[in-house]
Amino acid sequence: RRALGSLGKSRAKFISAEESTGITFDDFAGQEYIKRELQEIVRILKDDEEFQDKGIYCPKGVLLHGPPGTGKTLLAKAIAGEAGLPFFAANGTDFVEMFVGVAASRVKDLFASARSYAPSIIFIDEIDAIGSKRGGPDIGGGGAEREQGLLQILTEMDGFKVSTSQVLVIGATNRLDILDPALLRKGRFDKIIRVGLPSKDGRLAILKVHARNKYFRSEEEKDVLLQEIAELTEDFTGAELQNILNEAGILTARKDLDFIGRDELLEALKRQKGTFETGQEDNTEIPEDLKLRLAYREAAVAVLACYFPNPYRPFTQTDIKSIRSQPNMCYNDIPGKVFARKSDYVNSIVRACAPRVIEEEMFGVDNLCWISSKATLEASRLAEFLILQTGMTAFGKAFYRNQSDLVPNLAAKLEALRDEYMRYAVDKCSSVLREYHLAAETITDVLLEKGEIGAEEIWDIYKTTARIPQPAVSP
Ligand code: ADP
Repeated sequence: RRALGSLGKSRAKFISAEESTGITFDDFAGQEYIKRELQEIVRILKDDEEFQDKGIYCPKGVLLHGPPGTGKTLLAKAIAGEAGLPFFAANGTDFVEMFVGVAASRVKDLFASARSYAPSIIFIDEIDAIGSKRGGPDIGGGGAEREQGLLQILTEMDGFKVSTSQVLVIGATNRLDILDPALLRKGRFDKIIRVGLPSKDGRLAILKVHARNKYFRSEEEKDVLLQEIAELTEDFTGAELQNILNEAGILTARKDLDFIGRDELLEALKRQKGTFETGQEDNTEIPEDLKLRLAYREAAVAVLACYFPNPYRPFTQTDIKSIRSQPNMCYNDIPGKVFARKSDYVNSIVRACAPRVIEEEMFGVDNLCWISSKATLEASRLAEFLILQTGMTAFGKAFYRNQSDLVPNLAAKLEALRDEYMRYAVDKCSSVLREYHLAAETITDVLLEKGEIGAEEIWDIYKTTARIPQPAVSP
């Protein structure tokens, strides 16, 4: 009985105001607009009464969503640090238990503790673990329990008196789409902020934050090196950028050098790509069957790049010497892009589908492997961008940069339209690959034989083998 007595207690980690999280908004770089929005919330949290006199109340909940490693936890801690408030950190999975009543009583316990320290902050990471749509498939069991927990969160949030004992609830998730809509209603998570992958400038700013306590030969050299790394790290998260600098520091120490140099940074970058995605050390022999898959993938990417050439991003060469979940094709980014048309955006979605489409075609849907898995992610990200941020689609002319202006059923509408674009892109991509199957086969052969292939040879093959139709397959 004694052991079970602690079951209903929240496992949340508590950081008091005195210890403070020690983290401020200066620790988060890039995406300045996110900081501005959150700074406003901190001002209201701190100066409750002044704002209440003006009829302004702090939101009850802030939901941060975006890919892992983009700094959502960091932001939550920064809010606590800036406001100087006690901080209760929990994880959605803490509430998912098979024992009846445990989830709900853990939620109750957490909110009771937070209220006794109010004003205070509750942070629930991976809130989707407990807050996913009700009535959906019960993956992993414990569905009824989770529902109880979710209901308890809703009750607790509704129960806050607006004027006193302010407790701000911050949730984080990378699955906004599966959250129960009840959580997103007014008076619950009123503020929804997207934390996305950093832009090039954002990456530079993040690198600078994490270079603060590292040694470089000079400020000038540091600036040049970080600029270079920022350019080479498209699609990297803040966490990955931080890792590069740490790794470079370790390599520098191992070589007994005083300063981090270009070699160390580039090697750290390579390791980051490698270890994060394959767990393999350099020079490991790539098994033959994986080489074949890689060669097909690169060939498909090459064919699509020829079919929809991008004058501002010509490809230069590709190889099958390393295994990454993203294509190895290299590009030469030419500055001075003036404008992109809707068709350019759509074509980029079609191109992004290539790794997945060829793998499914060659090896069958049951034999897909992880080297094509990022392709669908990338394609749907591009589709989402087109739909939400350009105003060029049937979705409407609005710009939903961070979706804080969440319209009713935004997720459902987005999903429906994205589905249409994805369907179109996959179909188009398959038909291009069928039409140019000979080019794809030939490029694959060259890659298997030589390990690499340059742009010129790719173009030659593409042009000479073009448009020899594949024999029709009877149904
Ligand atoms: P998430 O909660 O989104 O998964 P985290 O907040 O845990 O991401 O990020 C992990 C670490 O990566 C942070 O502690 C921080 O050191 C670094 N990091 C991520 N994004 C940023 C950023 N925008 N600026 C500075 N550091 C960042």
